[in-house]
Amino acid sequence: MTQRLERRQFLGAAAAGALFGSPSAQADTAGRREVRLEFLHPKELEETRAACATIFQPLGTIEWHGVHNVLGLDAVKAHALCLRAAQKGGGVVSPPLFGGVGGLSELHTFIMDPEDDVFSKLLRLWLEQLCREMARDGYRAIIILTGHYGAAQQIVVRETAVRMSRALGIPVLGTPEYWLALDEGYTGDHAAWGETSLMMHLFPDTVDLSRLGKPPYQGVGGRDPKESSAEDGRRITETIVSRLATLAQRMPTWNYEMQDRFIDAEATLVAKQLSAPRGKQQVWTAWRNVATAMRDYGRQLAEECFDEIKASVAKL
Ligand SMILES: [Zn+2]
Repeated sequence: MTQRLERRQFLGAAAAGALFGSPSAQADTAGRREVRLEFLHPKELEETRAACATIFQPLGTIEWHGVHNVLGLDAVKAHALCLRAAQKGGGVVSPPLFGGVGGLSELHTFIMDPEDDVFSKLLRLWLEQLCREMARDGYRAIIILTGHYGAAQQIVVRETAVRMSRALGIPVLGTPEYWLALDEGYTGDHAAWGETSLMMHLFPDTVDLSRLGKPPYQGVGGRDPKESSAEDGRRITETIVSRLATLAQRMPTWNYEMQDRFIDAEATLVAKQLSAPRGKQQVWTAWRNVATAMRDYGRQLAEECFDEIKASVAKL
């Protein structure tokens, strides 16, 4: 079984190489632009940025994701979504960051900041400096997409984005990918139906449901991963990618009035998430009815309906 899986993963890596181009190529055989920042030469980067000055920063970590998924799921998932969004809407994609706030108390998990640490001593500072460097180099919008999402990780990412938007004078969005697909019924999980379906679509050779055995599954949270399907993953992916692509196109064009409305909505959201526990350790308090209250967040964000987002936050 191990040998068979390794073979399948090798083929998966080859397929990914074909899709996104070899390190020296600027476009693959289907004519898709190279959008990975680490594989761009200055000339191509400047051409890409002249058309759309948005940069994506995918986030994840190394964390147990059940026996059926790979350990880097969060980051590789976020990276793949950002690549597709950049190819569709424009912009470039910074290399994924493996490391963040929290993680399960399971084998093979790296925990860089404690699980409920909304003060984050590592991720927050790293993101701040990344944003400063991105703005200094000339990007006009930043989209930080986290595929890893404990409550504190989500708060740190969104709060940092809001603060850096204000400080740098360019829009910075910091959100988990599932917030862009709440209306597709994906409300965030851990290695369960949602994440596994996304991986079955994005990296089909990495998922092996036959390893799952019988429930309860170790280190899996959410709907039974045996109900996962590549089709569900495709549907969630298309919704997220389409909204990210729209944002990548629109965000660099926002004037200060639009930026202020965006920042105001995002600041209202993160303030609610941060303050809802009222000083206690229940960092998930503001997520209890997220599926209904924030159902339309992804559409509202892509359509620049920031006042509607603020109204939704009041229901959290
Ligand atoms: Zn995950």
